Amino acid sequence: MAYKTIIEDNIDILVAGAGLGGTGAAFEARFWGQDKKIVIAEKANIDRSGAVAQGLYAINCYMGTRFGENNPEDHVQYARIDLMGMVREDLLFDMARHVDSTVHQFEEWGLPIMRDKEKGTYLREGRWQIMIHGESYKPIVAEAAKKSADKVFNRICVTHLLMDEAKENRIAGAVGFNVRTGDFHVFKSKTVICGAGGASNIFKPQSTGEGAGRVWYAPWSSGSAYGLMINAGAKMTQMENRIVLARFKDGYGPVGAYFLHLKTYTQNGLGEEYESKWFPELQKMVGKEYLDPEASHLTHRPIPTCLRNHALISEINAGRGPIHMVTMEAFQDPHLEEIGWHNFLGMTVGQAVLWASTDVDPKLENPELTTSEPYVMGSHATGSGAWCSGPEDVSPPEYFWGYNRMMTIEGLFGAGDAVGGTPHAFSSGSFTEGRLAAKAANKYIDDGKGEGIVVSDEQIKKFKGEIYKPLEHYKNVSQ
Ligand SMILES: Cc1cc2nc3c(=O)[nH]c(=O)nc-3n(C[C@H](O)[C@H](O)[C@H](O)COP(=O)(O)OP(=O)(O)OC[C@H]3O[C@@H](n4cnc5c(N)ncnc54)[C@H](O)[C@@H]3O)c2cc1C
Repeated sequence: MAYKTIIEDNIDILVAGAGLGGTGAAFEARFWGQDKKIVIAEKANIDRSGAVAQGLYAINCYMGTRFGENNPEDHVQYARIDLMGMVREDLLFDMARHVDSTVHQFEEWGLPIMRDKEKGTYLREGRWQIMIHGESYKPIVAEAAKKSADKVFNRICVTHLLMDEAKENRIAGAVGFNVRTGDFHVFKSKTVICGAGGASNIFKPQSTGEGAGRVWYAPWSSGSAYGLMINAGAKMTQMENRIVLARFKDGYGPVGAYFLHLKTYTQNGLGEEYESKWFPELQKMVGKEYLDPEASHLTHRPIPTCLRNHALISEINAGRGPIHMVTMEAFQDPHLEEIGWHNFLGMTVGQAVLWASTDVDPKLENPELTTSEPYVMGSHATGSGAWCSGPEDVSPPEYFWGYNRMMTIEGLFGAGDAVGGTPHAFSSGSFTEGRLAAKAANKYIDDGKGEGIVVSDEQIKKFKGEIYKPLEHYKNVSQ
């Protein structure tokens, strides 16, 4: 076979996928492991890879504890209600208690965070969200990771995790191939931190044919994290929990800034408020614990995302669609109009382009909302991913097996979309989870748990065979 085999040996910490979780992992790995060999293998180019590639307009998870705004406990309660109980409170609390320091670091590294000049705090979009000028969010965090790693391998699609042959159920590295040169790469490592992101395109997107590729979550989020972990035998959780989002129709423009900052609201095709009419019926289904219409969604008692979607779909089913976002009132204020457009230009350019090209002016008409197709991921309002150990000081005994964020495979850690049970982490929380995983991976190595790993040539050959089989097949068939 013409492709070269390139072996990187004696790695202490391999970061597989360097989006927000992976960059956090690489950065923190160096902090605790000055003497460690830290290597990143990234499918795209770390400077613009992952779900934050095109930038964001808000950091969706920030407690603001130093400003007296929220405590981690509040966030746990919020996420628990939004996910209707299906969360790991230990993991959530652990992320929430550390996330503010992550955000403060981002600001030190040059990320422009908007300020509330009167209060002296960061400018809030909602209770948990702060507003940023985030076009360069990813290059900024990538720089910190690049400076921390010994080597960064860009354009490497990691395809399989290597298992140790000296000790059962222990990780030994990973293999993959270079998407540009085709070369085969082997990474032998004592630990692997998997940050390979979530999964778009599992379900047929609404945009097909020439529109294919327009999806809400990043089109390059190919579910690698799950493929890697499941094939290696990691226990998973919440994989049946698919997230569906209410978004601006056809462009998937996010609605958070509109609801929270612009104070826009929805109405049905008859121009009526419809959501609250469904609450009594929904409350009968789920109980008052999860749906308390008396409480605002801005408090720690949100209306769960899935129930709000249910109301939207039920209203359309009842023949009273389409559903519109009432933008015409807010957009009369030039400042809010500017924010409305900036929000898309900084995060979902396609929505702004779509409105501009189809002559939709939200000041003059109320744009349509619809639900997206389902996605599988672990860092938004959903918590699919690997079943991981929590931190020693918070987790109940059955949720702690030695090292924070370590999966049920020894030496395999995760962050962001890869980790299950921690919804509402978003970009800042995913980076924070990477930091937590890397600190624990360092301890795992220092405790001698990664010593003596063995990877035979046969194991490597087997995976190489699998990777290049389609090419071999093509060659044979086309000859
Ligand atoms: C449209 C949109 C809007 C969002 N809005 C906000 C917001 O306003 N605020 C907020 O805080 N968060 C927001 N998020 C969420 C945030 O981006 C994610 O929560 C976060 O990026 C998840 O981090 P991650 O590390 O798990 O995945 P990612 O950041 O997606 O990183 C995954 C990385 O793995 C790499 N990779 C994938 N497969 C492989 C493989 N096989 N081998 C090697 N590398 C691989 C990818 O190239 C990528 O670099 C938004 C996301 C999207 C898509």
